[in-house]
Amino acid sequence: MTNSSKSKESEGSDAPSSNFIRHIVAEDLANDRHAGRVHTRFPPEPNGYLHIGHAKSICLNFGIAAENNGQCNLRFDDTNPEKESQEFVDAIKDNINWLGFNWSGDVRYSSSYFEQLYQFGVQLIEKGLAYVCDLSADEAREFRGTLTDAGRNSPYRERSIAENLNLFARMREGEFADGACSLRAKIDMASPNINMRDPVLYRIRHIRHHQTGDAWCIYPTYDYTHCISDAIEGITHSLCTLEFEDHRPLYDWILNSLDLNSIKQASDLAESDLPYVLPKQTEFAKLKINYTVVGKRKLKQLVDEGLVQGWDDPRMPTLAGMRRRGYTAASLRNFCESVGVARSESQVDISMLEHALREDLDSNAPRAMCVLRPLKATLTNLPGPIELSLQNHPKKEEMGHRTVPLTSEIVIDRDDFREESEPGFKRLVNGGEVRLRGAYVIRCDEVERDAQGEIAHLKCSVDLATLGKNPEGRKVKGVIHWVSATQGVPASVRLYDRLFTVENPESKEVVDFRTLLNPDSLTVLEGCLVEPAAASPSSALSFQFEREGYFTRDTLDSTDDKLVFNQTIGLRASH
Ligand code: ATP
Ligand code: MG
Repeated sequence: MTNSSKSKESEGSDAPSSNFIRHIVAEDLANDRHAGRVHTRFPPEPNGYLHIGHAKSICLNFGIAAENNGQCNLRFDDTNPEKESQEFVDAIKDNINWLGFNWSGDVRYSSSYFEQLYQFGVQLIEKGLAYVCDLSADEAREFRGTLTDAGRNSPYRERSIAENLNLFARMREGEFADGACSLRAKIDMASPNINMRDPVLYRIRHIRHHQTGDAWCIYPTYDYTHCISDAIEGITHSLCTLEFEDHRPLYDWILNSLDLNSIKQASDLAESDLPYVLPKQTEFAKLKINYTVVGKRKLKQLVDEGLVQGWDDPRMPTLAGMRRRGYTAASLRNFCESVGVARSESQVDISMLEHALREDLDSNAPRAMCVLRPLKATLTNLPGPIELSLQNHPKKEEMGHRTVPLTSEIVIDRDDFREESEPGFKRLVNGGEVRLRGAYVIRCDEVERDAQGEIAHLKCSVDLATLGKNPEGRKVKGVIHWVSATQGVPASVRLYDRLFTVENPESKEVVDFRTLLNPDSLTVLEGCLVEPAAASPSSALSFQFEREGYFTRDTLDSTDDKLVFNQTIGLRASH
């Protein structure tokens, strides 16, 4: 999918544009299907940081709720303690707030429903719909069958209810070793849908949980937990990605197998007079973007193997990384709205994301000057230091002005100077003139070299009649940026290129995506100089550095002595 071929399903005449989920919700409201309520949830597993794909799900879930005066919960889907941690919980909460969303009430955890989940397990056993199975994981796999062959019933499938209740209680008490047995739903080993072949509901794991500590040694599976957690929270619309489509029959089977009144009594709606209606799962396509991997497993690998500098490395497509890179929350929300929501998988062109970012920064980032590759120049006839007042944004008077010191020693960018004039080169040449942005026209009179023969210093004269005025009798076309050499603030600047060299690092043909990392994804420039206004602790963090692009101060790595700026994105698409 590219900018021009937006999915049909996401097209519509209203703003915000309609999509099939908005339609479903509107229809449910019109038909009073959930007693007029809209309650969604965002259910991350705290086993990594959120990435740009999650932003789509967050915008959708929180957006649908907000548009319909509904509510959206944040629920940690925390049933795999070995892979989860409090660090991830904290980062996820922080990222969601940064993106601009507030969850309804307290943060929820599936783990806080462990007791209810256990009691529902007992209920299923009592109804003859679940049993304790002693098959090992390998045996269970063999019994499960394949896509073409039906599975076989477990030899433990016909255990009595009393025996199952006894065994399940002893599983909880910690009597059995990891993997010794599991609780399984009794559905249909011949079902064409493998998810329905007596799926595991509980497994034994003697492991500490980041929320419940050592209270439990049996943990419910995702499929079992998710639907019941939704039901407990009174979720109306359970929105998830397409890979769960085949799990929907199980989602419905579990909820429909339980006594509805017992679910209501366990739920947030226990005291409510509203009719209790079970949640409904609806799937949508995952967001995929070219030149990027979205998948926590791969991102985790990059972090764990030190291939990037952490989850918040500005090259990472994580929300933490993108934020540090200078992505704005508004640009991500706009992007998510513009890609729409559809039921068919497609890949979005990264230029769409970059477009949303540039659009936001162009209208909101103050302008400033920073010289990335400094070349010293002396303004030989400048009578003394002066203070210029420059507008922060060319189109937005309301963004105010800043003071920019012009001193006799300045720096310009090496790339803005050539000794000889060349066709098409409109910047400074020896003997030629150029305008310093927001200041005077200068002429280069002399070039000095260092011992190695490198150009080291320019001597320039200022046409003092050209402040805010064209020079008399001649045209000076070029304008370059500059910074006072004595009052500018040293900075190191990180330039970024794509993290991957190929368009589809996640494609099936790729054997090892790590071999596709771009070795030049990070370039660090030392000794850059930034104008004082952009370096002050009280200034904005993100700027358009004139003629260079958008940059943001790295608040983690900047110190009192040295500023660090991360390049957010170039001024225009370069790839
Ligand atoms: P990953 O594939 O990165 O491990 P996940 O689905 O396992 O993602 P969860 O923490 O379970 O990660 O995701 C929380 C929610 O975000 C789920 O509802 C999931 O469907 C949704 N989500 C995850 N990845 C994407 C994506 N690329 N696009 C849209 N929604 C996503
Ligand atoms: Mg998941």
